[in-house]
Amino acid sequence: MSSKPHFVLTPLMSPGHYIPMMDMAKLLAEQNTLVTIILTPLVAQRMKPITDRAISSGLPIQILLLSFPTLEAGLPDGCETVDTIPSMSFYKNFLHALELLQHPYEQLLQNLNPKPNCIIVGKQLAFSAQTADKFNIPRIVFDGMNCFTLVCSHSLHLSKIFETLGEDDPFIVPGLPDKIQLTHRQLPGDFNPGQVDVKEIRERIREGEEKAYGVVINSFKELEPKYVKELKKIRGDNVWCIGPLSLCNNDDRDKAVRGNVSSINENQCLNWLDKQKPSSVIYACLGSLNRLTPPQLIELGLGLDLSTHPFIWVIRGANKPEEIENWIKENKFEERVKHKAIVVRGWSPQVLILSHPAVGAFLTHCGWNSSIEGISSGLPMICWPLFGEQFLNEILIVDALGIGFRVGAKGVTHIGDEEKYGVTVSRERVSEEIRKVMNEDEDGKEMRKKARELGKMAKMAIEKGGSSYLNLIMLVNQIKKMLN
Ligand code: UDP
Repeated sequence: MSSKPHFVLTPLMSPGHYIPMMDMAKLLAEQNTLVTIILTPLVAQRMKPITDRAISSGLPIQILLLSFPTLEAGLPDGCETVDTIPSMSFYKNFLHALELLQHPYEQLLQNLNPKPNCIIVGKQLAFSAQTADKFNIPRIVFDGMNCFTLVCSHSLHLSKIFETLGEDDPFIVPGLPDKIQLTHRQLPGDFNPGQVDVKEIRERIREGEEKAYGVVINSFKELEPKYVKELKKIRGDNVWCIGPLSLCNNDDRDKAVRGNVSSINENQCLNWLDKQKPSSVIYACLGSLNRLTPPQLIELGLGLDLSTHPFIWVIRGANKPEEIENWIKENKFEERVKHKAIVVRGWSPQVLILSHPAVGAFLTHCGWNSSIEGISSGLPMICWPLFGEQFLNEILIVDALGIGFRVGAKGVTHIGDEEKYGVTVSRERVSEEIRKVMNEDEDGKEMRKKARELGKMAKMAIEKGGSSYLNLIMLVNQIKKMLN
């Protein structure tokens, strides 16, 4: 039997899950382990540039393909990932497709040589709880969230405090070390599901999560010490904060191809950034899943323009891209701002941009990957949460860490329901919050200083001897012990 533990990683098919899991694979492979990543074809294709680079650098990583049951699950052709689901009416089918993966997934595991010693899986692949029992191996879950969110969710699940309240009635989340105020409208899908009824599947996922051997978290102890402690009280000691995972990409080329092929030429982008003053550029990107309506997206663009700072605006994700394109052309927007801005259509090399010294602030939807990537780059943030657990991340960024301002989003915009909400954030508000973050007054300076300090702490956590580095070694050693 090999003395190296063999980890098999299988992410949920969504960029916010498979991108950090690929980083995790690299970090594990650097610790004298064998790593297999199981990817579905579309994800493997998007990740090819980064997986090729990792493998050719000599890391012991192999990729296995698992075909995605698109047609069997009643999904339209080409729909293999969360960002390719055409509308929420197909969400249930997508979750069903995940369940259909059990048999082929187990066959892949069965044929592996050497045998797997530990599986790390996206939490949503609930069937893997049975798989782990069958193969008698530890199963560690990953769902891309921080400890603060997991602790809040646990309390909400136990207390159900929101159930008797109106959707805008504020309440305090019970039993937490801090006074955390929320409304029902701001809660993640488990507690605020919108029209799509997937209660049963959600419950299976939750039970599967509870049964897991442990959980890996893309965060670091120094960022949220109280909540790491609280989560360990809930889950026991097998909670490993091993982030920020994106910091394993030191090379510009690795940063540029992380997640997909960029829609802009990375050298042009870097040359442009090199010409800007230090800490002057606003980077605005609302993640990989958002489907803002054209009027709301246009308002964001106009807010960036109004702010007078140079900016990079990522417009991927509009739910009607042709309308946005027409607006840009008719209003000569790109021409008008070209002396001070870049407009990115499609995939942006986010980590490459964020780590450039010319970037001064990040306008983000508070997806946890984006948030921790902003934190790792020492940047203050302008927060525009949209859905999922993003309102909780906003509280962490603005209230707990003091490194961001809110654009004033009031509640979850359910994916697919965007048209109903209209324009909720004005260009004036966007520009005002940018002004506050970039301001030369004491508040602005203090916020930027805090953000820089957190950035340094993040880097220390992942370096040799840092808290996340040691946690990763502890995790590997724990699995190694089981080999004997
Ligand atoms: N991302 C990127 N380029 C883009 C959009 C997103 O590199 O144009 C990456 C981003 O760096 C992050 C991930 O995609 O790692 C998005 O995850 P997050 O949790 O922030 O949000 P989600 O997309 O899941 O809403």
